[in-house]
Amino acid sequence: MGKTKSVKSSGRYRQKYGATLRKRVLVIESKSAKGQKCPKCKSVDTLARSAAGIWACKACGIKFAGGAFVAQTTLGRTMTPEEFKSTKAASTKQ
Ligand SMILES: [Zn+2]
Repeated sequence: MGKTKSVKSSGRYRQKYGATLRKRVLVIESKSAKGQKCPKCKSVDTLARSAAGIWACKACGIKFAGGAFVAQTTLGRTMTPEEFKSTKAASTKQ
């Protein structure tokens, strides 16, 4: 129940909040649903959002800052300091 053709899963809000906002919710939900990787142990679907922008991995226990609704944003990836990028690249080579 609560699915519509145009706004899909956010159809659960029925006629409330307006179509534009329901479409925005749909975009966020489709991004945050699954397939997010942990930056430390690289395991998929183990991340849990503990607050807006704070993410925790159930597998390795790391807690890190990310996007409000997705663990890593494209802007966050570009703003990451160079020395951290190089340590990341070194850890993936092992
Ligand atoms: Zn992890």
